[in-house]
Amino acid sequence: MKVAEILGNGRVNVSCELFPPKVWDKLSGAKQVVREIAALKPSFMSVTYGAGGGTSEYTVDLSREVEDCGVTALAHLTCLSTGEEKLLSIIESLKAHKIENILALRGDKGELSVPGAFAHASDLISLIKQHGDFCIGGACYPECHPESSSLASDLDGLKIKAESGCEFFTTQMFFDNNVFYKFMYRLLAAGITVPVVAGIMPVTNSAQLDRIISLSGSGIPLRFRAIADKFANDPAAMKQAGIAYATDQIIDLIASGVNNIHIYTMNKPDVAESIMTNLSDIIGK
Ligand code: FAD
Repeated sequence: MKVAEILGNGRVNVSCELFPPKVWDKLSGAKQVVREIAALKPSFMSVTYGAGGGTSEYTVDLSREVEDCGVTALAHLTCLSTGEEKLLSIIESLKAHKIENILALRGDKGELSVPGAFAHASDLISLIKQHGDFCIGGACYPECHPESSSLASDLDGLKIKAESGCEFFTTQMFFDNNVFYKFMYRLLAAGITVPVVAGIMPVTNSAQLDRIISLSGSGIPLRFRAIADKFANDPAAMKQAGIAYATDQIIDLIASGVNNIHIYTMNKPDVAESIMTNLSDIIGK
């Protein structure tokens, strides 16, 4: 099924994210993670495309596994580290495996860029559009992409992606829902009307926090910083608090009418299960 169709179904949709292993011998473990998360019946599952393009085959492999479990797969694809020929072969492979959804991304600047690489996700969106009937999504950044010179230029980038054929956006993680609500007003004012999936990261280990901030540029509210400081040396308590914080964010989003939520589950079926259980009556599962 196309993700755009799922996002427009009028129900609350919760999706989960996986990342593929770097090496072949870890693939069966990753497939087991797919099966465990799929058993929670998320609305769809996305599979990241590793830095450097090194794990491209596994993104297709894991996306197939997601579909085999009866869940819609969203395969990520990045264009900075992968040349056009390879991109086309992956697009053909996704098509052959009846994977209908691609999250088209540029990739991070720190990655090895291939000569002649596309400069932006919008170029990749146009390429995918020419080569199949995919539902294409893109990334957006409630706190502004770190390379954007202003909020206005950030919105210009999103407009170009929407005009190129992007049918939905998934947000970078955020820890303060007000940041997301303000972003949604900015999109509305700019006339960008494609659905937006709110990305929530359950932080279950305080050592993750600084890495997350440096990779994503997301701000950490004082309330969450206090939680991470308080439980820094108590892993079980931090896990419980991180799951509760993410659950609280999701409930506030749903109560405010945000129907589409993506959980950065980071290959942790137990974390995904705890959040789904916390939400079971709210999302009707
Ligand atoms: P772009 O859309 O190209 O935007 C990058 C910058 O260029 C922005 O400042 C934007 O405003 C500007 N811009 C955009 N289009 C244009 C244009 N046509 N002309 C001029 N300027 C433009 N990385 C991975 O390696 N693998 C993954 O699987 C992955 N998954 C992700 C999933 C999500 C939901 C998110 C939010 C990020 C993900 N990333 C992933 C990270 C992503 O690759 C980086 O954030 C990257 O720095 C930007 O990617 P983008 O697709 O947003 O780039």
